[in-house]
Amino acid sequence: MTHSQHHHPARILVVDDEIGMQKLLKKVLEQQKFHVEGLLDSRQIAEKIESFRPDLLIMDIMMPELDGISATRRVRNLKLSSYLPIIVVTARKETHDLVAALEAGADDYITKPFEFEELLARVRNMLRLKKLHDRLMTKTMELDEANQQISRLNHVLVETNKQLQRKVYNFHNLFEVSFRVMGQLELGKLINQALLNILGIFTSQSAALLLNSEEEPDLFEVVEAKGLGADESIYDLRIYRHEKLIHYLELTKKPFQIREVSREFKEIVPQLKKHHIEVVSPVFQKEEVVGVLLLGPNVRGEEYSEDELEMLAVLTNMMAVAIHNAQLFEHVRALSYTDGMTGLHNYRFFRLRLKEEVARARRENSPVSLLISDVDYFKNYNDTLGHPAGDEVLRKVSRILQTSVRDNDIVARYGGEEFAIVLPGTDSEGAYALAERIRLKVEEEAFYKEEIQPNKKLTISIGIGNFPVDAVTVDDLIIEADRALYHAKHSGRNVVVRASEIAKA
Ligand code: GH3
Ligand code: MG
Ligand code: MG
Repeated sequence: MTHSQHHHPARILVVDDEIGMQKLLKKVLEQQKFHVEGLLDSRQIAEKIESFRPDLLIMDIMMPELDGISATRRVRNLKLSSYLPIIVVTARKETHDLVAALEAGADDYITKPFEFEELLARVRNMLRLKKLHDRLMTKTMELDEANQQISRLNHVLVETNKQLQRKVYNFHNLFEVSFRVMGQLELGKLINQALLNILGIFTSQSAALLLNSEEEPDLFEVVEAKGLGADESIYDLRIYRHEKLIHYLELTKKPFQIREVSREFKEIVPQLKKHHIEVVSPVFQKEEVVGVLLLGPNVRGEEYSEDELEMLAVLTNMMAVAIHNAQLFEHVRALSYTDGMTGLHNYRFFRLRLKEEVARARRENSPVSLLISDVDYFKNYNDTLGHPAGDEVLRKVSRILQTSVRDNDIVARYGGEEFAIVLPGTDSEGAYALAERIRLKVEEEAFYKEEIQPNKKLTISIGIGNFPVDAVTVDDLIIEADRALYHAKHSGRNVVVRASEIAKA
């Protein structure tokens, strides 16, 4: 199978700083009769798009001058006459970059080392979507123009025209909406938004999405249902992978109307009918059905048209990509224990380790101290010098913290501008001495334009809580350190305060 464009070969721009990789991609894609050009220096991306007018970008993430994430962002800010899909290329290990690229507006990705078959499949899919998108945009414009002429004619024609316009508007809407949905990385929100859009576009009374169950890979279960006809009982609907219906979807790869097949699938159809389902559409990832989209009747009481089923097919495909991206994103976020900005441990890790250390201290009858630091008048710094300058301060402070502690102490980003340090085996005096050292180091460190701060320098305040002196549970220990920090702020800032020094409220 070659590419699907009849008139002109699709134009693909390969952006990669490695000439070897570029040549290889070029060769493979040219064998498929694509028109391919390469770009080594991603900084010239805007100019290259302007001159070459590609239909698709394949872009490496790791590039020395301007990385693929920034380049993707740059492309998304260009005013292009049609949508330009972007596939990013990344090494399997760099999942964080990948997530960033998807957030920046990449549509799909491929991991190195890759199989050419997979690359080609992704390329073809993107081009197919783009072609549909472009065609519908053109159709919208043509019909718009035609409509203007028709509307000068008589009343009957004006009515027809209105209906046409609505239809075309829907087509247009579909793509606007779906490209927006594709950027939504929070799975719950994405599904919610997608189903609501589908109800709107198809004027359906109800819609439900079933996805592969995580615990039972052979089972599809309802993850979300929307609309009038969708009562709670639809959540009991279960479809198994061995069901004939799934095989049928795997073969036909497109939506169908229940009434057309009711004789073939005796087991499942009565169940679907019970929930007033009229249309079933497969959600594909690679060659596999990973979900099923169900539509209830149209509020107009009409049957769904062939056009509508076609639209639904495209939309479900897009949803599949979006769902995959969101799942990947959640997976990575869930696994992550690192704060991206400072490289320190994140709040999740902090909670986990604090719990372990308190439990150990209880067992071994030893102390644990907790420091919480907060930058003084940080809002002023941000508001005056901008967020990037503020971020730089946070990175600098985190380096000071990290280099001031011992190996088994735990430094974490507690919240926005707040850091926490867990000191196993350290009593209140020891913690105070360390906190003072850190406070002084930050005071003495030169920060960019720090003289704009109220006390002419950038400083931090620190609160200390100690197990078992101030608290005997994890939650109370945090409360105590926080309380001490609050007092530090109220006693003028740039100080260290211990919970044991202050009277309990
Ligand atoms: P205080 O001395 O009482 O702590 O005053 P403050 O201005 O630091 O107080 P507050 O805690 O209200 O302000 C926190 C500010 O920190 C708000 C926000 O602008 C900033 N901030 C939080 N997270 C980040 C971040 O990740 N980057 C940057 N640049 N600023 C952040
Ligand atoms: Mg704060
Ligand atoms: Mg602050």
